[in-house]
Amino acid sequence: MDLKHCVPESILEPSRQTPVLGNYEIAVLGGGPAGIAAAVAASRNGRKTILIERYGFLGGMGTAAGVTNFCGLHANVRGEIKQVVHGAADDLLARIARLDGLKEPHALFGGRINAQAYDTSAYKIAADDLMLSSGVTVLFHALAVGVSMSSTSVLDAIVLETKSGRGAICAEVFIDCSGDGDLAAWAGAPFELGDGEGNMLFPSMMFRINGVDAQRAGEAWKTIPQRMLEAQSTGRRFPRRVPMVRPQKHGIEWRANMTQVSRT
Ligand SMILES: Cc1cc2nc3c(=O)[nH]c(=O)nc-3n(C[C@H](O)[C@H](O)[C@H](O)COP(=O)(O)OP(=O)(O)OC[C@H]3O[C@@H](n4cnc5c(N)ncnc54)[C@H](O)[C@@H]3O)c2cc1C
Repeated sequence: MDLKHCVPESILEPSRQTPVLGNYEIAVLGGGPAGIAAAVAASRNGRKTILIERYGFLGGMGTAAGVTNFCGLHANVRGEIKQVVHGAADDLLARIARLDGLKEPHALFGGRINAQAYDTSAYKIAADDLMLSSGVTVLFHALAVGVSMSSTSVLDAIVLETKSGRGAICAEVFIDCSGDGDLAAWAGAPFELGDGEGNMLFPSMMFRINGVDAQRAGEAWKTIPQRMLEAQSTGRRFPRRVPMVRPQKHGIEWRANMTQVSRT
């Protein structure tokens, strides 16, 4: 298409007054596992705390991206499977268990660490309850888009876009749990990407399989990797060579972690 008019490289936005939506001692950006733990800890230590999340639920990639298992909360300690991560994890696991949403941990990666499958909706409900009972204010559907700083080293406010319009949250301390370092980057903190040569962590997508017949599936978590190995020996190439396909708490549902956009 031949565009006759000149398209500028940038535009100048008019300045505006942004309303302050609240003033807190601690503002946590991001409601994934890191944000949940940070907000609970801050609030339980008597700090007026807000947790800001772009989606309408907590859990981060653990709920939004279908991860559906905690990897590393349990480990093989001298032959015995033990929970090795505690703190806020205890409160979250207890709540998910009360909702009947936890499966027994199973060994991964040669048995050193264990993964524990959970029901995604139970996790969301448990995390909401943990926030409420810890006294954390939660602001959902709020996408952080920038910061306001009174000097190069003092962050005063985080700027949000919400369905009700743009607003700011002021705080004494900000904790970046965005998973992407958004807040730190906007505040001018130095960062590096990947290995410095343009290589980032492989993106992957987990998915769930429903309506599984447990009897017919058997121990498919053993047979699928074997069959993929056999296929590879006859020339078939998979982006991800070691798949994880596992039953969830309720055997009708399985999770699959077997896709990957790989460069090799
Ligand atoms: C495909 C995939 C498979 C994985 N497999 C496993 C596994 O099997 N087991 C396991 O234990 N771990 C797994 N992980 C890793 C695990 O998901 C992460 O380690 C964990 O989610 C990191 O937690 P976090 O709280 O730091 O960040 P995240 O979970 O990424 O949470 C960040 C939160 O911040 C919010 N956010 C980000 N930017 C903004 C913004 N600008 N404004 C408002 N909100 C914002 C996001 O919506 C999100 O809720 C996997 C991850 C992926 C993506």
